[in-house]
Amino acid sequence: MNKLPECVSLAHLPTPLEPLRRLSEEYGTTIYVKRDDYTGSEISGNKVRKLEFAVAEALNQGADMLITCGGLQSNHARATAVAAAKVGIKSCLILRGSEQEQPDGNYLLDILLGAQIKFVTPEQYRSEIKSIFQETKAELEKEGYKPYIIPEGASNGIGTFGYAAAIEELTKQEEELGFTFNKIVVAVGSGGTYAGLLLGTKLHAQEREIYGVNVCDNAEYFTSRIATTLVEAQGYLNEKVQIERGEIRIIDGYVGPGYGLNNPEHLETVKKVAQLEGLILDPVYTGKAMTGLLAELEKGQYFTAQDKVLFIHTGGHFGLFPVRDRFSKI
Ligand SMILES: *Cc1c(COP(=O)(O)O)cnc(C)c1O
Repeated sequence: MNKLPECVSLAHLPTPLEPLRRLSEEYGTTIYVKRDDYTGSEISGNKVRKLEFAVAEALNQGADMLITCGGLQSNHARATAVAAAKVGIKSCLILRGSEQEQPDGNYLLDILLGAQIKFVTPEQYRSEIKSIFQETKAELEKEGYKPYIIPEGASNGIGTFGYAAAIEELTKQEEELGFTFNKIVVAVGSGGTYAGLLLGTKLHAQEREIYGVNVCDNAEYFTSRIATTLVEAQGYLNEKVQIERGEIRIIDGYVGPGYGLNNPEHLETVKKVAQLEGLILDPVYTGKAMTGLLAELEKGQYFTAQDKVLFIHTGGHFGLFPVRDRFSKI
């Protein structure tokens, strides 16, 4: 039997399951939400589940500093800064942006949390991030630190186990609920959440299908990236889990103008779900994923009236406020 790697406890678990009654009625399919935006207040969202495993590995290696990267409003970078503070070590964040930015949203919290922040340009981020990580690590080692690198989104082998564990949690909740969700829908930004959900489903020999709505790049890119992450994750297991490429289901077509950018449809979805269900989505991830889910429910290609669909609310609230201006027109 496969055992998951060691983890530290950082998130408030289990996160609740809630029915979305009015949306279910409107779209004619049972839709529930798993509130992973409730994993914490400051540590809110999906990244903390992955960090529970990554931080355990870091501490086991004697690390006293976490290095990671992300956009200026990265939920992952903020969650890493919180996680470091919670276990009593330091953090260094490599952020895409410049010092001129207003402290707002996640970036404001990064500052409050005392993270060391290193700004890089979008070009550097795109083409040199690996060498920037190594340089930063070397600099910090010279200062006497023992740094541990967490890649973007903690979407690597070890981070994958966060959502494999979430499947275990969900399975227990389903026993109480008296039914199972045959389809799970989640936003895909770096693929680690998706990889974990699929791995967890396979580890429990479940039939459910996992659907990812990509918020950047395209389906082909994420299928490869997720497949690679899954291979890396297998390295931590003592028994191989068979996963076919065809089981990686990415629903493309809802990226809009690009990562972190929105079209009016995304913003309408955020507003609609807020008013109909009292559920606040974020514009970068969950707003796009929900736009995809609702549009696909209408199209009927991936979902039918018999399905029991679970939407994972992966958090991201702090990213809503810095883009307040976008909402003035809807
Ligand atoms: C990072 C993030 C995602 C995407 O998760 P990945 O594992 O990177 O694909 C989804 N929602 C929110 C709010 C996030 O911060």
